[in-house]
Amino acid sequence: MAIAYISHHDCQLHDMGHHHPEQPARLSAINDRLIATGLEMVLHQFDAPQATREQLAAVHDVDYIDEIFAAAPTEGIVWVDGDTAMNKHSLDAALHAAGATILGVDLVMEGKAKQVFCAVRPPGHHAERHRAMGFCLFNNIAVGAYHAVNKHGLERIAIVDFDVHHGNGTEDIVTGDERMLFCSTFQHPYYPHSGYDTTAANIANVPIAGGSGSTEFRTAVEKYWLPRIEAFEPELIMISAGFDAHQADDMGGLNLVDADYNWVTRRLCEIADKTANSRVVSALEGGYELHALARSVEAHLKAFLGEN
Ligand SMILES: [Zn+2]
Repeated sequence: MAIAYISHHDCQLHDMGHHHPEQPARLSAINDRLIATGLEMVLHQFDAPQATREQLAAVHDVDYIDEIFAAAPTEGIVWVDGDTAMNKHSLDAALHAAGATILGVDLVMEGKAKQVFCAVRPPGHHAERHRAMGFCLFNNIAVGAYHAVNKHGLERIAIVDFDVHHGNGTEDIVTGDERMLFCSTFQHPYYPHSGYDTTAANIANVPIAGGSGSTEFRTAVEKYWLPRIEAFEPELIMISAGFDAHQADDMGGLNLVDADYNWVTRRLCEIADKTANSRVVSALEGGYELHALARSVEAHLKAFLGEN
């Protein structure tokens, strides 16, 4: 069964200025790696559609959506948060980034793909119900998750987030919704300084101390994530795939290696095989050291193929 790779050219045109780490070259680095390794040949490539306002409104306040549409500049750069900016292409990029998870969910629900990777930017997991934050405008993974509920009638979706930063936006959106189980590992204490004291029943947060590496990460996943996810019996697993916990990535202070991304993805696929008809939809979040990012995405996608 096919593995789908969803992206859109507009995602390369969103540019927050020179020296911003969340840069267009991230997607080029991933694309180049997939071509060089031949992995591109086995992926079914799709263009991401734009998410509709209605689809966005399932996770964001309408006033907030209007604010982002109104903020979109026709030239230059406009800052919507301390570290999040929009150029004239950013709104289209953000709509395609959110639309990618919509298409991804449709593909796995219609049996046209087993696993999906959305190579998109801007990322989404810091975007809260009514706030842009941390390079994120719309919460791509949550938009896809609620599309799975609203269009396909799913009742149990596990969203897992292994970015070095806590997925505060996703947590803000899904907290208290028992149809969603949100599992996040993240460096603590660290930006965005949230999640470490969460008590909501549908949230499984695992703060990890700076300097930790593969052992601590894998232990956290095995002890706190996998049993929760297995017991939840998700009908779909979605992944906020941030690769900035890599040891080569100085955006964070954790020391994961390429193989950790393969390992965690394989563990999640094993659960998806049991309860979710193998359905996994993953979307790019962080990952700023271009070489490590490209190799880590390769490791992540090879897990979908059952390869190390
Ligand atoms: Zn991050």
